Amino acid sequence: MSKHLDFKLPAFLILGAPGSGKGTQGKILGSVPRFFHCACGDVFRSLDTRTALGQKFVYYSSRGELVPDELTIELWHAQILNWSETHIYKPDIDFLVLDGIPRNVRQAEFLAEHVEVHQVFHLSCPDREELARRMRKRALKENRLDDASDRVIQQRIATYEAETKPILEYYSKERVLDIDATQPPVKVLRDIVDHITKLPVYQASLKR
Ligand code: ADP
Repeated sequence: MSKHLDFKLPAFLILGAPGSGKGTQGKILGSVPRFFHCACGDVFRSLDTRTALGQKFVYYSSRGELVPDELTIELWHAQILNWSETHIYKPDIDFLVLDGIPRNVRQAEFLAEHVEVHQVFHLSCPDREELARRMRKRALKENRLDDASDRVIQQRIATYEAETKPILEYYSKERVLDIDATQPPVKVLRDIVDHITKLPVYQASLKR
């Protein structure tokens, strides 16, 4: 990592099990000016699968496991610099909407060097069968290897419980908002937007 941005990037984090709707919400928010959606899974899926990194992604994701942290963070950082150098992402005025990263506490610690997470939105869906149903539906629509079999789906949910959910304890309680992810997407969006627009960091950004 040779280049650095010289301040911590202001960010919101969407956290939830696979199938909880992180990508749906992140995409909508990212289409609004001053918000930039960064979906780690999409960054991985855009890799050429003939490269060593692309092969590693296929290896881990098709088993429902996480790609090793160093690789993930390095790729994420390179992509952020690239988006920023090409002015697709404007770090001085855009809020970063993180989706799919961090996925464990170690990644959260790495990320804290680069990012200031102002709010975590926890898309909560205790009904694991509903998550599995959503993933099966997505496998049909989006050609997702990792959603294709029940065994992998169960493994992805287990990986979430064991590795990703503990992130909720890493951030202070005031920074975490639970949102009912079983609501229709537009209501989930309303809950997120309602909260963001009341945050002091968001209100301060309007004065810039
Ligand atoms: P979902 O939206 O269903 O949660 P993603 O598209 O975010 O899934 O991720 C798909 C797969 O990509 C994960 O199961 C994992 O193998 C890999 N992956 C994505 N983000 C990360 C990350 N931050 N760390 C490690 N692996 C990741």
